[in-house]
Amino acid sequence: MKTIRTIAELRAALAPARRDGRTIGLVPTMGAFHAGHVSLMQRARETTDLVVVSLFVNPTQFAPTEDLSAYPRDEARDAEIAAGAGVDVLFAPPVDELYPDGFQTTVQVGALAEPLEGLQRPGHFDGVATVVTKLLSMVGPDVAFFGQKDVQQALIVRRVVRDLDIPVRIEVCPTVREPDGLAMSSRNAYLPPADRERAVALRRALDVAETAVAAGERDASAVVAAARGAMDPYGVEPEYLALVCADTLAPVDRVNGQVLVALAARVGPARLIDNTLIQTNGRP
Ligand code: AMP
Repeated sequence: MKTIRTIAELRAALAPARRDGRTIGLVPTMGAFHAGHVSLMQRARETTDLVVVSLFVNPTQFAPTEDLSAYPRDEARDAEIAAGAGVDVLFAPPVDELYPDGFQTTVQVGALAEPLEGLQRPGHFDGVATVVTKLLSMVGPDVAFFGQKDVQQALIVRRVVRDLDIPVRIEVCPTVREPDGLAMSSRNAYLPPADRERAVALRRALDVAETAVAAGERDASAVVAAARGAMDPYGVEPEYLALVCADTLAPVDRVNGQVLVALAARVGPARLIDNTLIQTNGRP
């Protein structure tokens, strides 16, 4: 595996593959790799000829109050994990390579960026959309891989590539979880042991939502109430817990067809998110 720091070097490294008609896969990340990241790398390895992983803690997607400076970083460990997953190129540029002096063009996302994470983190998705657009432009991948855990991000990336006519297929991969159900996240590293135990509340809420719908509940507010109740014993209060349309993220009153249950909660020092897709047969 080759570690590359500049856009010029990256383009030069990918040119032969492109010329030979080999497919390129891109996995954009912010590092601090866990099994969720590795699953994306493995999927890229299985489905494309040359696998590029970008490792860039993107400052423009963090608000001034957020954890940019504290975000876990260990490039040497990440490089070992990526090499072990069969990655060909680790693209780990410094901040001024992506945002040089005078930078002033951004990608602004519409309605999909407004609810859920968008309400809690104003500007976050414009930062994500901008850096992903830049990475897609630098790498020119055939396929880019994203995780279902960040479902709003995945929907927004799909929207951006459609709206800006970027020729790439976006593949969304399932959420990888700890044995107790907690979605793997770089931010889990912030959790002291007592909070780590309470963090399972998010998955329990999703379990209860799924069970309620499986038992025939179709009223969204009843499903939300049951799911919120499941978090009470852990002393975890959701920032949001919502049933929304899986395509538009608009709130739904009734569970009908495919709906998304999305939630975020602060557990001790960490802000965690999770979601599940629920499919009914469409009967009211
Ligand atoms: P991050 O480094 O947190 O920006 O994540 C990089 C990519 O990994 C994103 O597409 C995430 O959605 C994905 N990802 C993060 N956690 C998981 C997980 N537990 N399972 C699957 N994909 C994940």
